Amino acid sequence: MTIVGSGDAFGSGGRFQTCIAVGAQTLVDCGATSLTALRQQSREPNEIRTVVLTHLHGDHFGGLPFLILDGQFRRRTEDLTIVGPPGTEDRLKAAMETLYPGSSEVRRRFDVHVLEHTDRRPQRLDDLTVTPYEVRHASGAPAYAVRVQTPDRSIAYSGDTEWTDALLDAADGVDLFLCEGYSPTPIRWHLDLATLAERRDRFNCQELVLTHLSPTALAADLTDWTVAYDGLRL
Ligand SMILES: [Zn+2]
Ligand SMILES: [Zn+2]
Repeated sequence: MTIVGSGDAFGSGGRFQTCIAVGAQTLVDCGATSLTALRQQSREPNEIRTVVLTHLHGDHFGGLPFLILDGQFRRRTEDLTIVGPPGTEDRLKAAMETLYPGSSEVRRRFDVHVLEHTDRRPQRLDDLTVTPYEVRHASGAPAYAVRVQTPDRSIAYSGDTEWTDALLDAADGVDLFLCEGYSPTPIRWHLDLATLAERRDRFNCQELVLTHLSPTALAADLTDWTVAYDGLRL
């Protein structure tokens, strides 16, 4: 697994928006800057077969129009599967039409399949099993933490959310839990370092790594935490 983008929505700390690569063929989230981040890390966007979305904010799904159009212009032939919250297909179409009118109707050499999460129902995608856990984050559709099980590893990612015990379930027994650490102190719809520190012992995971830090979190005392950075391999 590689952290392609570890930033918040606003590029704080010079970090790219959220994008996590699981092997060469799967992304978890694809923020508006993710195609640039993939290129910077010498990853081939046309190898990506599956994109799992936590929620429908631009810093988590806004890179999809660019990923799809890049595939179109570079003669991609392999289909792309997107798994996201209910409403993903409409939101993606609206984003594509806003950014590049006509782009959602173009005939391509590959198909884009959009599947929806159902809370806590595992979905099998090639050799991965993806399980969503609904969390608390306003984004015009349900938001999820996701657990991704590969043949030999399991990871979970919080997405954006204020505290919910669903995070404990998503992270239960995983090798690595990637968790939002947005601010030093509580803030609506996001996770903060004080709350996480208080509840850290309740997580049953091998390792907890922070991501999606705002400027104030990046400037906080982070000595007790492992913090993701762009390009980090785990
Ligand atoms: Zn968000
Ligand atoms: Zn975000």
